[in-house]
Amino acid sequence: MADALAGPTRFHVLTIFPTMFVSPFSEGIMARAISNELVEVRPHDIRDYAPDRHRTVDDYPFGGGPGMLMKAAPLFDAVEAARSTARSADCPVILLSPQGRPLTQAVVEELTRVPEMVLVCGRYEGVDERVRDYLVTDEISIGDYVLSGGELAAMVLIDAVSRLLPGVVGSIESTEDDSFTTGLIQHPQYTRPAEYRSWRVPDTLLSGNHAEIARWRRRESLRKTLRRRPDLLETAELTDDDEKYLHQLRQDQTFH
Ligand code: SAM
Repeated sequence: MADALAGPTRFHVLTIFPTMFVSPFSEGIMARAISNELVEVRPHDIRDYAPDRHRTVDDYPFGGGPGMLMKAAPLFDAVEAARSTARSADCPVILLSPQGRPLTQAVVEELTRVPEMVLVCGRYEGVDERVRDYLVTDEISIGDYVLSGGELAAMVLIDAVSRLLPGVVGSIESTEDDSFTTGLIQHPQYTRPAEYRSWRVPDTLLSGNHAEIARWRRRESLRKTLRRRPDLLETAELTDDDEKYLHQLRQDQTFH
């Protein structure tokens, strides 16, 4: 985790639409994290670093082709200005990009150890390749699809990282058995009433037997993961008991 003594985890966001960051961080857990000074989101308008009076940040691609590209110079200047205010010299610069490494829960956990980072949001057809080659230190994608800009991706990253920082979510246990944190999909959960439209909550959950409840949850997690995301089982940490249960499920003709 980021060092609490160093102050809030700070996200600098370079964007041509800084006001996009107001509303999503004005509600719920993120708003509280910001007002409690656990997290800071600082949008920087890339247009402030454009050299001309039209505040131009894009230009035609060499060699032709559709659309426009973000120019290198405003991005280099904006990153250097943001980094000059950073608390540490090795503040990473992350380009949000469909070409980047996938944002998984493991990457999110890795980023909780970074106290300050610069997030670069592309627009148009993307950025001049020299930004990728000589400016950014990392490139992250939020999925195999193409957005019209990096802003929503930056918000996803900020939200996912922030909720793992100490004090942001009410009780740390509430993130510990989240999907992916355990390497599996989360078990089913229910709240009151115990019966709704004749659908009853599983008896085990009402039994008060904590060991049985834990066993039921683990098994439901395994069952759901096998059904929906069997790929996760290749890397999840599994006990002998888990392996036995999965073997049983795979043999079971009625399981699908
Ligand atoms: N032509 C680019 C390509 O094929 O790689 C895509 C450009 S996209 C229209 C504009 C910007 O949206 C990108 O520069 C990036 O910042 C952001 N973006 C799009 N999809 C993304 C994704 N899956 N993850 C993160 N950022 C994304």
